[in-house]
Amino acid sequence: MKFLRLFWIFPVLLLVAVGTVSCSKKDPNVLYYTCPMHPQIQKSEPGQCPICGMSLVPVKRDEIP
Ligand SMILES: [Zn+2]
Repeated sequence: MKFLRLFWIFPVLLLVAVGTVSCSKKDPNVLYYTCPMHPQIQKSEPGQCPICGMSLVPVKRDEIP
């Protein structure tokens, strides 16, 4: 019954995998998210522009002059 004893490892591996994916999702080069039409909108997370409803685009460190 070695198999059953190792069974707990699968949910643990799943949690680790999910944690890794959600961490790698956040680009460390992204400074903030902004609306292409409204540069005054600066959000720390992706979403929609509160003015026009467009999807916010990430502004990356190396894109700033
Ligand atoms: Zn906008």
